[in-house]
Amino acid sequence: MSKKENQIHELERRDWQLWTITLILLLALAAFIILVFFYWGTPEVGERILDSYEMNVFLLGFTAFILLFCGYMVVKEMEIKNLKDTLMSNRIRIETLKEFDEMKTDLISVVSHELRSPLTSVKNAVDIITGGKTGEINDNQKKFLDIATRNINRLMTLIADLLDVSKIEAGKMKLIFTCIDLNEPVDASISTIRQRAEAKNITISKEVMCDMPLVHGDKDKLEQVFTNLIDNAIKFTKESGEIRITIKEFLGEGADTGKFIKCSVEDNGIGIQPDDLERIFDRFYQVEKSLSTTTRQGTGLGLAIIKGLIEGHKGKIWVESEYGIGTKFNFILPLYNSQRILTDLVDNAIINARDNKTIFSLMMVRLESFDYLKKTYGNKETFKLMDQVCRIVFDSIRRDRDTLEYQRLDGRVILILHDTPHEGALVVEKRIMDQFYKNRFAAGKKTSKTNLSLGIAAYPDEGTTGDALIEKVMV
Ligand code: ADP
Repeated sequence: MSKKENQIHELERRDWQLWTITLILLLALAAFIILVFFYWGTPEVGERILDSYEMNVFLLGFTAFILLFCGYMVVKEMEIKNLKDTLMSNRIRIETLKEFDEMKTDLISVVSHELRSPLTSVKNAVDIITGGKTGEINDNQKKFLDIATRNINRLMTLIADLLDVSKIEAGKMKLIFTCIDLNEPVDASISTIRQRAEAKNITISKEVMCDMPLVHGDKDKLEQVFTNLIDNAIKFTKESGEIRITIKEFLGEGADTGKFIKCSVEDNGIGIQPDDLERIFDRFYQVEKSLSTTTRQGTGLGLAIIKGLIEGHKGKIWVESEYGIGTKFNFILPLYNSQRILTDLVDNAIINARDNKTIFSLMMVRLESFDYLKKTYGNKETFKLMDQVCRIVFDSIRRDRDTLEYQRLDGRVILILHDTPHEGALVVEKRIMDQFYKNRFAAGKKTSKTNLSLGIAAYPDEGTTGDALIEKVMV
């Protein structure tokens, strides 16, 4: 309930109490007059009492008091009505703004998609010419083709960023959650970006806690987060600067109670002024002064995307900076606990289905003899096979809103198919199985055949609690 709604609710409650008191007072007055008439024996005696000076003053005062009270109540009623009108017009305004926002997000998404295909063709054509496949090109032609390539790349980045932002805003960014050793995305981003750091003689160091626990996240998207943060650090750090990446355990407080992993990307670059810090995660926000220090122009969307991705991981991101000294971006990610994640996932789906009066199907896809495969062919081979299974499951769901959870360590993929009865889930099951057996997957070089098991439990027909659905779906 909003603050205004609470205020109205409180006023209405008090108003109701006051009207009750008014009514009681009026009833008391009427009862008093009747009693005077009948208790003093005859109406004549009663009339005499009522005619007395003191009684008249009392009755007059009492009536005036009740009238004043009623006047006060009418004013209060008008106040409540005004508040209700304001609330209603605010609601209408919010709804309209939301509609505009959705239209804008859709427009960005459609335009970006439409721009991407022709731009890809242009890029391919320019690449073919630059590569000399259409004949020799001279230095002058090469110079202009390089300019074209640079600008095509800038446009491609902008389009990719716009698409990411529109997906995040529409809640349609698909994340494939799994257990992650954060070393993997960090190392991948460092190797992607090392050349650019070396070009500016910038050193990148990594400090990771020993026995680092696994986190729950999307590996590719976390790589994107690290790459973007390190890229910014390089961009806004002068020659021979330093970038430090640290990963530690973090104990959350208040709303973030629980264990997390905290990642930091710190540089000794130009820093950010306090006024700009507040807006740094806004879309298209770029600090004017920083633009002059870099030859690479960004889109001002990078940090907004990073924030959206981290929040999509139920994490949090913040920045600390001292102008002229350096900047440190910190973010936390929840730790991995397969059982808790499964329970949370199903419980949330139940709450959502209950609130929206809809249904869903829970599906579990498991690689058979997972433990045997691990023992025989090792973790690496088995996880490679698991990754392929996950990809097949991912490609088999056609809708963005379906949820996919990849539990690599347990050899299973969990799906929540929203608004889908058991029969609908069977169609998805068939797609997965067809793809799996068409590709004839095998672990290890010896090509030992592997099978998939699939379990389905539909809510509410086959279970109304998380435990019941999970028990049914375990295969
Ligand atoms: P872009 O880098 O494309 O301009 P971002 O959203 O990634 O967009 O960053 C927004 C702005 O935040 C940048 O333009 C820059 O002014 C500031 N910024 C980001 N990272 C740093 C950093 N490490 N040091 C100083 N300023 C930074």
